[in-house]
Amino acid sequence: MLIDFHTHTSASDGTLDPIELVARAVASKLELLAITDHDTVAGYEAAAAYHTLNSSDMRLIPGIELSCQWSGVTIHILGLGIDCHHPSMCRGLHIMANARRERGLKIASRLESCGFEGALAGALAQAGASQFGRPHFAAWMVEQGHVKDHNEAFKRFLGQGKTGDVQAFWPQLEEVTEWIVSSGGIAVIAHPLKYRFTGMKLRRLITAFVAAGGEGIEVRSGQQTPDQTAHVLRLAKEYELEVSVGSDFHRDAPYLPPVGVESSPFEGLKGVWQRWSV
Ligand code: MN
Ligand code: MN
Ligand code: MN
Repeated sequence: MLIDFHTHTSASDGTLDPIELVARAVASKLELLAITDHDTVAGYEAAAAYHTLNSSDMRLIPGIELSCQWSGVTIHILGLGIDCHHPSMCRGLHIMANARRERGLKIASRLESCGFEGALAGALAQAGASQFGRPHFAAWMVEQGHVKDHNEAFKRFLGQGKTGDVQAFWPQLEEVTEWIVSSGGIAVIAHPLKYRFTGMKLRRLITAFVAAGGEGIEVRSGQQTPDQTAHVLRLAKEYELEVSVGSDFHRDAPYLPPVGVESSPFEGLKGVWQRWSV
């Protein structure tokens, strides 16, 4: 069964708009699709309105990818099956919007003090109605000819440990997990190997996450080797977590995975998708 529980639209940093993403998923014969934009449900809501008008067998699931802090590192937690209008989620989204704005201002002031004049106005113009973040600073740098592409912008100025890497504004892991759980969703640790933690630190993260009410882990995320998948599967078993799979789709590119991931059975483990499949 082809599904996808981790996708982005133009409501955050994806290039397809919500309707294009749904149409793509339907055309690719997905049975379940969760839209998980960064810190917003606007893309899901637009997609849901469109999807109800167009009959298809695919089921659309509300989702979100929330940034948070744990042990001084930025972690991404997916919330699947949340009630987007639950007071806890509304409050959380409000906190995230403020955090994003504050962070954007801080990134801009850091870049401007390094000589990137007009970074704030330029990045805001790039963001338009979507969630303001580092990709917009990158797009502005490319447009201005400061860097040759998005990758160079992150490598030199915006990526981990660089001038524009500001993370102090995100709420704590426990907090965002609680918003997801109290709004009826399941919290899932996104791309657990992307943080490049040691085995011991990853276990500490999972322990804190479970204590906060988290129940799932992404075992197949974007491109990863079978060894990496096996590694995460062992952790899922050890901590009795439900497993999730997703492409982390942002844009069409020859080196990036398309929408849709095979949810082949993982022996002895419960798939998050079983909550929605009949
Ligand atoms: Mn993203
Ligand atoms: Mn992520
Ligand atoms: Mn993502």
